[in-house]
Amino acid sequence: MRTIRTVAGMQAHSRAARAEGRRIGLVPTMGAFHGGHESLMRAARAGSDEMVVSLFVNPAQFDDPRDLAAYPRDEARDAAVAERLGADVLFAPPPEEVYPAGFATTVGVPGLSDVLEGARRGPAHFAGVCTVVAKLFNMVAPDIAYFGQKDAQQVAVLRRMTRDLDFPLALEVLPTIREADGLAMSSRNARLSAAERAQAAGLSAALKVAAEDGLEAGRAVLAAYGIAPEYFAAVDPDTFEEPGRLIAVAARVGDTRLIDNVLIERAATPERRGADPKGAVRVLPTP
Ligand code: AMP
Repeated sequence: MRTIRTVAGMQAHSRAARAEGRRIGLVPTMGAFHGGHESLMRAARAGSDEMVVSLFVNPAQFDDPRDLAAYPRDEARDAAVAERLGADVLFAPPPEEVYPAGFATTVGVPGLSDVLEGARRGPAHFAGVCTVVAKLFNMVAPDIAYFGQKDAQQVAVLRRMTRDLDFPLALEVLPTIREADGLAMSSRNARLSAAERAQAAGLSAALKVAAEDGLEAGRAVLAAYGIAPEYFAAVDPDTFEEPGRLIAVAARVGDTRLIDNVLIERAATPERRGADPKGAVRVLPTP
């Protein structure tokens, strides 16, 4: 595995790979690898010839400077994981390579970026995500880019950006990888104390109940775990307008902000259940 730190070096590497007819797969990450990242890397290894894992903690998408400062970083460990999973390139540029002096351009998807996560984290969050991912697409020139359904709104925003700006690549979205008790794996989970870790299981428990019995039943589960959500809503997975079959939640557990979601076959409203009591709402394994 080669580590590349410059944009020019990455672009030259991708040009050469493409000239040899190799299909390039990109896994964009902010590091602190866990099972979710590993699942994306396995898919990239299986689905492409040249596998590039990017590692860049993107300051532009952090709305909270304390969150950015506390973000876990361990490049040596991450490099070992990427190499074990068969990456050909670890692309780990320093911030000044991505945002040189005078950098001024922003890519954004207004509307879709303004609700739920965007409403809570502010308009700069998804603009920061879109801008860095658009740049990564131009730096790496992948044929396929791999993302996790764990960040469902990010997926919707990036799908729209990719389509609107005609990026010549396919997005592949992989299901959320979870701990044994259901907690969605996240680099931020490492910050939870033992008590907070137990409380955090309430998020996935509430989603599971909401998928079966509706949002109000899910809300009761959150309350039982002592969790006051920032949002708990059923939205359309493409437009993020209510109602819809994606149930999404965000909540602080202690100081740590966690998000999770589940996709169901149809909107989990009490009315619908009443109209079709035998048609149990099934939780879909893949997006
Ligand atoms: P991050 O390093 O947190 O920016 O995440 C990098 C990629 O991994 C994003 O596409 C995330 O959606 C994805 N990801 C994060 N957590 C999980 C998870 N538990 N399961 C599947 N994918 C995930």
